[in-house]
Amino acid sequence: KKSKIRKPDWLRVKLPVGEEYAKVRKLVDNYKLHTICESGNCPNMGECWGAGTATFMILGNVCTRSCTFCAVATGRPPEYDEEEPKRVAEAIKLMGVKHAVITSVNRDELKDRGAEIWYQTVIETKKLSPETTIETLIPDVKGNWDALYRMIEGGQEVVSHNVETVESLYRRVRPQAKYARSLEQIKLTKEAGKRTKSGIMLGVGEKPEEVHKAMDDLVANGLDILTLGQYLQPTKMHLEVAEFIHPDQFDAYREEGLKRGLKYVESGPLVRSSYHAERHVNVPI
Ligand code: SF4
Ligand code: SF4
Repeated sequence: KKSKIRKPDWLRVKLPVGEEYAKVRKLVDNYKLHTICESGNCPNMGECWGAGTATFMILGNVCTRSCTFCAVATGRPPEYDEEEPKRVAEAIKLMGVKHAVITSVNRDELKDRGAEIWYQTVIETKKLSPETTIETLIPDVKGNWDALYRMIEGGQEVVSHNVETVESLYRRVRPQAKYARSLEQIKLTKEAGKRTKSGIMLGVGEKPEEVHKAMDDLVANGLDILTLGQYLQPTKMHLEVAEFIHPDQFDAYREEGLKRGLKYVESGPLVRSSYHAERHVNVPI
């Protein structure tokens, strides 16, 4: 069902145009890569691609999960492509970005959850662009902590894992995920010495007290950086928007998060985990 409420003005965005945008478009196509910008119908494509950056999505574009907010196709993914890490690394080099964000689908059917491809992607990117910092937005490894350690040992500066929503909405929003398991994944990532980051989408029916509770849980599990953005329904087949959160409320959440011990909170209607990600590499933690 399509959301009945109208999109407010603060969600209006720039149209995708310009030379940089065309350059990113060409790289993505020539290197046969996927981006979460496109797969997720991100409203910031005009801004990010226009500034010459994109978030690559590795391990294919078919996901073993069916999160109800997500526009990525669900199914049994085909064999993964062992050359993908090199192509991602080359595309990042040609983009010439100071900071690169990489994410992936879930590959629950693989014993290693795709960890080896993740590791190779980071290693290859660092090899070709040693000055470029990397954020890896990694999936839920379903408790396979060896896979987690492999995914995060390639030298990336930031490791994110999104809890996406508050605990009470997990069944509705992330049916194959578990809130406590995602928290544990963040805790182990922190204990492994990484800079940790997570994200929550707002406007899916969560209550402010629940968001505050999630902040406390995240801080207790070693989270450094939190992103908060407005959920937008990618197609009418997806989870409905329950509410458009006012920008002032986003500001209030930022203050609340900092008060509760987060080191940095990126909060605003158009914030996505990869939005302004270059700001998060050097935040003192
Ligand atoms: Fe892509 Fe992230 Fe920018 Fe959206 S915010 S266009 S997903 S890089
Ligand atoms: Fe989308 Fe990630 Fe959920 Fe897969 S695991 S359906 S890519 S949000």
